[in-house]
Amino acid sequence: MPTLTLPEESTTFRLTPRPARDADYAPLPHGLTLGDAVLRRAHQVRAGDLVIADFPEAGDTVRVCEHLTDPYPADPHTLSSCPCQGCEECDDFDESGFAAPHTTTDRNARYVCLAPSDDDEPCGVYFRNAPIAVIPAAAIRARTGRPAT
Ligand SMILES: [Zn+2]
Ligand SMILES: [Zn+2]
Repeated sequence: MPTLTLPEESTTFRLTPRPARDADYAPLPHGLTLGDAVLRRAHQVRAGDLVIADFPEAGDTVRVCEHLTDPYPADPHTLSSCPCQGCEECDDFDESGFAAPHTTTDRNARYVCLAPSDDDEPCGVYFRNAPIAVIPAAAIRARTGRPAT
């Protein structure tokens, strides 16, 4: 099972196998595998990187990934420039007490959104420093000759 690390962090990030028998989990496209994955902080994710998993549980030495059911190519932007026009995720940030103490400037400084909402998927909003497993856009291009879609 691949394990990943981040500079200046002693934590090991463990990529468990993608749930292959669960129909909710789309297979990785283009024959890509977890062996193609790298770890980035959310603010280092680049447009076209395929977002495949995050690490919701804190942990000192080992953190285990949670796979996204539908990996998506990242389209990083600030919260205030989300093109989604109010998805459930963004509404949480706008309305909940969780976000209320922060100004828009604070929110933009603390969080990054990696995906616009499409028909049924809300935005992917993360702390700037959150570890995110992605398959780099360059690796996808190398495999397919074109960007991820
Ligand atoms: Zn967004
Ligand atoms: Zn949104």
